[in-house]
Amino acid sequence: MGIAETQADLMARAESAPETLTDGFHLLIDALKLNGVETIYNVPGIPITDLGRYAQAQGLRVISFRHEQHAGYAAAAAGFLTKKPGVCMTVSAPGFLNGLTALAHATTNCWPMILISGSSEREVVDLQRGDYEEMDQLAIARPHAKAAYRILHAEDIGLGVARAVRAALTGRPGGVYLDVPGALLGQVMDAVEGQKSLIEVVDPNPKSVPAPEAISRAVDVLKSAEKPLIIIGKGAAYAQCDDTVRELVETLGFPYLPMSMAKGLLPDTHPQCASAARSLVLKESDCVFLIGARLNWLLSHGEGKAWGEKGTKKFVQIDIEPTEMDSNQKISAPLIGDIESCAGALLEAIGSDWQKPSEEWTGAVSAKVKANVERMAPKLRNNNSPMDYQGSLGVLKELIAENPDVVLVNEGANALDQARSIIDIHKPRKRLDVGTWGIMGIGMGSAVAAAIETGNQVLAVEGDSAFGFCGMEIETVCRYNLPVCIVIMNNNGIYRGDGENWGGGDDPSTTVFVKDARYDLMMQAFGGVGVHVDNPDALRAAVKDAFASGKPTLINAVIAEDAGRESGNIGNLNPSSVVAQARYPQAKKV
Ligand code: ADP
Ligand code: MG
Repeated sequence: MGIAETQADLMARAESAPETLTDGFHLLIDALKLNGVETIYNVPGIPITDLGRYAQAQGLRVISFRHEQHAGYAAAAAGFLTKKPGVCMTVSAPGFLNGLTALAHATTNCWPMILISGSSEREVVDLQRGDYEEMDQLAIARPHAKAAYRILHAEDIGLGVARAVRAALTGRPGGVYLDVPGALLGQVMDAVEGQKSLIEVVDPNPKSVPAPEAISRAVDVLKSAEKPLIIIGKGAAYAQCDDTVRELVETLGFPYLPMSMAKGLLPDTHPQCASAARSLVLKESDCVFLIGARLNWLLSHGEGKAWGEKGTKKFVQIDIEPTEMDSNQKISAPLIGDIESCAGALLEAIGSDWQKPSEEWTGAVSAKVKANVERMAPKLRNNNSPMDYQGSLGVLKELIAENPDVVLVNEGANALDQARSIIDIHKPRKRLDVGTWGIMGIGMGSAVAAAIETGNQVLAVEGDSAFGFCGMEIETVCRYNLPVCIVIMNNNGIYRGDGENWGGGDDPSTTVFVKDARYDLMMQAFGGVGVHVDNPDALRAAVKDAFASGKPTLINAVIAEDAGRESGNIGNLNPSSVVAQARYPQAKKV
């Protein structure tokens, strides 16, 4: 007998020979395993509680979080780190919605992720009869995902998982939603037929080779540049062709800027790295070669004051997504394909007699880098108490240089902007941060994923505000005993801790927190190590201890209340008006 058997026939068989049957739970687990999934980031509950237990029983690593958003951020980060879909599993409606933020984040960042959510039964939901956690999840997920599928029959589980895996990975990666109605999991079918229905996806991430004429066009544009610049984005870090990218950058000899999560793809201390001369190279360059980076808001759309005179630059861009071209500026030489194939073909085309840019250009950039680094150095060595961002992050810069395999997780406003520019990264994919949307709350999910997926020590540098979005997950860090050291840059508030109520009332300002909060005591409540420090030397000692022991550690680092800036480096994005300015002397200038 095969799939033609009715569920009643199969139930009868279950009495006498259950070992000849399988069910939706096991088919889903088998399908994920067959496609290389090793870890599920999970929050249990109806209808997927047992799915998590069975997955664990069947040899998958199942990491349970306290809130779905963080399980989702972990899956998204896992997708970035491993180039395989990170899998998050949630309950229906509220759990699904909590996970959806992370799915949208993965899609926005072009990372492969699969959100599997249990859901209520179609028959009841579609008639809006008021089912337990009734919601049309598939429809809601669709605009936030690269693709969204629902599986209704056990014999389609293999197909559904294969579609999800391929959609997540192929071309520009993204988030995929997989809707799993509770009843599907309990459906039974013949075990042999079930096994046959599974699909192992063949070549989900195929090479995409650029056309020869696209390559020669790009070589011509690059050759004609007098002041060229390379911008390397997190797409290049994701692509995992580190040696090829490095060879291309070194052969071309252009100064380069790494976007924040591409830091370390080439070490930030590389002689061609122009991070410390960012303003100069953006403004003065006449040709910009984008490698896995988008000209979105993070690069002010390739225009405006930072970019110098309009129309003076040519752009060359490598991207796997054809429609990315001309999204903000004219791309004179689009290279559509995967970074490894494009970079490899370029290297072949430019050959060994490539003329590097003039010393006049590269020398000017190096001189600016040197001057800025030297100007900054003494500030990074200050031992002020309470600390400022330079003194505290100067210590962390030093410790990351000594421990280049540590994965740095970073979020906040000033804690983010300052750490991004101060802390050098020395190896690829060793920095995880707020991504394209600038999300607050990615910290603990990313830290858990980094520890699980790489096995390395993790250092999470967190603004006290950002930490508030994900702080409960320190219990998860302690429960799994992960080598995660969290440094809370505690300045008593959002941006700054010295905000006042502009109406003069008794309530605190909208941007401040309890003064002198002891986040370290929270960590102790879960059995982790909690340390309170208020000067750089003490911070250094505490982080060193954490790295040496590998124990879950939280360091409450006291930062001066007035050390930060409103919105860090992106205060210009805050709207303002003449009315507000007339009413409140403190308001931002129009
Ligand atoms: P950043 O924020 O660091 O500038 P973005 O996320 O804006 O980076 O851009 C990453 C780009 O990389 C996306 O446009 C994406 O399509 C592209 N990308 C991702 N993987 C690959 C790949 N393997 N080959 C080529 N391009 C890729
Ligand atoms: Mg703060």
